[in-house]
Amino acid sequence: MPTVVKCPTCGTDVVWAPENKFRPFCSERCKQIDLGAWATEKYVIGGKPGDAAADPDEPHDD
Ligand SMILES: [Zn+2]
Repeated sequence: MPTVVKCPTCGTDVVWAPENKFRPFCSERCKQIDLGAWATEKYVIGGKPGDAAADPDEPHDD
């Protein structure tokens, strides 16, 4: 009987199997999203609070 877990990103049922290299995620995309969220959090903690929405590629004119 396979172990089934929920994808932390989207909540999809994921079969916990050795061939599923993205577990506990359902796909590489969901894994990347979760890692991206982590990176963003670390960036915010290391940077200025409240500046999380600022995109370095888009200068603000106001
Ligand atoms: Zn997912």
